[in-house]
Amino acid sequence: MQGKIIKGIAGFYYVHVEDKGVYECKAKGIFRKDNTKPLVGDDVQLEILSEEEMTGNIVQILSRRSELIRPAVANVDQAVIIFAITKPSPNLNLLDRFLVMMKSQDLPCIICFNKLDIADPAQQEHLRSIYEPCGYQVLFVSAKEAVEHPETLDPLRQILKGKTTTVAGPSGVGKSSLINSLQSDVCMETGEISSKIERGKHTTRHSQLIALSSGTYIMDTPGFSSLGLFDMEKEDLQQYYPEFAEYEVECKFGGCSHISEPVCGIKEAVKAGKIAKERYENYKLLYEELKSKKKF
Ligand code: GDP
Repeated sequence: MQGKIIKGIAGFYYVHVEDKGVYECKAKGIFRKDNTKPLVGDDVQLEILSEEEMTGNIVQILSRRSELIRPAVANVDQAVIIFAITKPSPNLNLLDRFLVMMKSQDLPCIICFNKLDIADPAQQEHLRSIYEPCGYQVLFVSAKEAVEHPETLDPLRQILKGKTTTVAGPSGVGKSSLINSLQSDVCMETGEISSKIERGKHTTRHSQLIALSSGTYIMDTPGFSSLGLFDMEKEDLQQYYPEFAEYEVECKFGGCSHISEPVCGIKEAVKAGKIAKERYENYKLLYEELKSKKKF
């Protein structure tokens, strides 16, 4: 039987099998020999020990499409990053940090701004004008309105459908409210999952996938607020700013860092309003951070 690991804790793996439920499994010793450890997100082959108790053994890990380092999870297709348009107003440095981190791991990112119901349209347009020109899909939603009008979340559902998505964002932006409304769609189907796996604040340190519908999983990304850029050279940072590419040709010096060099296409584009000032200012901050970082 085939399933997907949705949670791993203390040597046990919880494997979701469509139309059946969640099996509590152990990984057989064979994995230790070839130095692979099952990861949350892995598609695995199971050997059932007891249908009644829903227990089994993982006997094979199917080949991974991708593997993220932080958080450690396999087969993630994309990230949805959630911020509030207001209350709290978005920390764009944190947003850019996340976008850079995901781009450096080749993971597509979608930006979702919540609390549309209390937002000033000018704030909304401002955020759109910063991120859409960079090539990101930007959604505006209201978890609050979605309670009465669930169809307002359809564009988000469409993005999630059939994929495994890591959902990230600082606290207070409405992540739980949004995840709850997406989950309530399938509450009946996944009821058994929630009863098998305790959910709650104390379990959020562990990465865990939530099954939404057939082949659709989301993962709440823990530890988001202190996102460090890891293993990155300051010279590589610029390649994770998609909007820089078309202006680089104007730089006089090869290997221009766009910080202090004269005749810089990026700085000119910022002056001309073609690259958002906010993005460039955050680029400089991250560049300085990488410059002063000790290797670990
Ligand atoms: P989390 O910390 O990101 O998981 O955020 P929560 O889902 O706990 O929400 C934080 C606060 O924002 C709560 O008081 C929610 O009621 C409120 N909230 C969440 N979504 C919305 C929304 O769309 N509009 C408004 N006005 N408030 C919201």
